[in-house]
Amino acid sequence: MNFYPAVSASSAFPKDGMKNKDEVVNVMKAYAIENNFVLVTARSQVPILHLKCAKGGAYKTRRDGDEKAKRITQTCRVGCPYLLRFSFRKKEQKYYLLKSLHEKEKYHNHPLSPKELSTLHEGRMATVTKEDFIIAGQLFTENSKTIKIQDLLNDESAPGKMLASHIIDD
Ligand SMILES: [Zn+2]
Repeated sequence: MNFYPAVSASSAFPKDGMKNKDEVVNVMKAYAIENNFVLVTARSQVPILHLKCAKGGAYKTRRDGDEKAKRITQTCRVGCPYLLRFSFRKKEQKYYLLKSLHEKEKYHNHPLSPKELSTLHEGRMATVTKEDFIIAGQLFTENSKTIKIQDLLNDESAPGKMLASHIIDD
């Protein structure tokens, strides 16, 4: 079995902790997506907060059920051992990232790539959002070009006015 290390979670999590559990989850989910995997809550019962790879959990071979359900279970869950442990310290009223209890918790047992990410629903959604950002960015650039041309058109003294309107009509 191959193991794939993930970029250290401590690089994404503030050393001085975080107050809000949802904030911890959101920050770490964003970190995971950036590194081509999906994190889900495994345990959440104060003071414990465990986040695991969405490909974690039992590798089930279903004898019952239809072929499609069987295939989904097999592609999504490969028993990935990756796990992040957080603990809520009462004294500071904050969540802190704990050191891994087992070495294997730092590793994924599947490659981390955009292709792998797209096999998970949540990963697909995040990828779509990423693309939306890029498209929105392109639209913004297009818009600013148009604005520049319009500025030229509005400027009576601007040379090449006819040329500019021609570009717009095109
Ligand atoms: Zn994993």
